[in-house]
Amino acid sequence: MAKKISIDETYLQDTLIQLLNIPSPTGYTEAAIQFTQSKLEELGLTSGQTPKGTLVAEWPGRTNDKPRGLTAHIDTLGAMVSEIKQNGRLKLSQLGGYAWNSIEGEGCLILTSSGRSIRGSVLLTKASGHIHGEKVGTTPRDGDTMEVRIDERSLTMGETEDLGISVGDFVAFDPRVESSPSGFIRSRHLDDKAGIACLLAAAQAMIGADKKPSQRTILHISNYEEVGHGAAAGLPGDLFELVAIDMAPVGEGQTSDEFHVTICAKDKGGPYHHKLTRRLEELARSAEIPYKIDVYPFYGSDGEAYWRAGGDVRVALLGPGIDASHSYERTHVDSLRATTQLIIAYLQSP
Ligand SMILES: [Zn+2]
Repeated sequence: MAKKISIDETYLQDTLIQLLNIPSPTGYTEAAIQFTQSKLEELGLTSGQTPKGTLVAEWPGRTNDKPRGLTAHIDTLGAMVSEIKQNGRLKLSQLGGYAWNSIEGEGCLILTSSGRSIRGSVLLTKASGHIHGEKVGTTPRDGDTMEVRIDERSLTMGETEDLGISVGDFVAFDPRVESSPSGFIRSRHLDDKAGIACLLAAAQAMIGADKKPSQRTILHISNYEEVGHGAAAGLPGDLFELVAIDMAPVGEGQTSDEFHVTICAKDKGGPYHHKLTRRLEELARSAEIPYKIDVYPFYGSDGEAYWRAGGDVRVALLGPGIDASHSYERTHVDSLRATTQLIIAYLQSP
């Protein structure tokens, strides 16, 4: 067994927390892409953006006969203003798939086309228990029964328009990042910023130890995963393998937890490439990396997006365990460490 390359866990956690605090709902990812680009630059990896805004870096390897790709997504769940109501409040259209109740009471930023960031919060239209009684509990949560209350003096449609807010503006939900001394990190959007932080920490550890990947490796930071076509483009035609780094949902009936890396064998889109999946499992086992194998019922990934777009490559999926995915999420540093270790083992493997 090769000597393990050590991971800088402070770098890993600091990068993750910085990234979590940069709003990046699908379609509005420029700042988070720029941050990631600067992190790659610090490591000496040159990257560029595709016309779609995807970040792509090419990392020369010891060989180039079977080039590899690693993809993780920077975009997160969010919303867009779909209507300014007569009472000055905002109706939302969802970006990505989540239950409306998961954002109830959350603070948000309205990112206006004029460049302003205006604070607000997402509430039930009939939110006050003193006025609406038990309806507050029984109303189904959806786009019609929920709205954004803006933290500005605005009681009419005109007053809201005067703030510079318009239909089509992006809305980002507060991540509410909190890390505990026990090693937990609780935040929205760990999906998939935890994956990106692991990818950066793996590159940092390899470059710090003066190691090259076994094959020429493409680092692909996708920006439209939550709407299904993130990695459909931006990967080179000679790619042989693609490993998507994305979160592993933790919950009832799943093997995944917050303390292992998960290798996903199958999701809604079908099985991942059997040989590549087995190889990742073998790498984890031989390097004594704590891992799980899991199957997800309601899950799709950028690996699948590339397959559906015609990518003729082997595809596998691995990632950190995330509790309460697409809600107020949580993971543990043990899972982030194991994920980073498995990425390193894969990069080094022949
Ligand atoms: Zn994801």
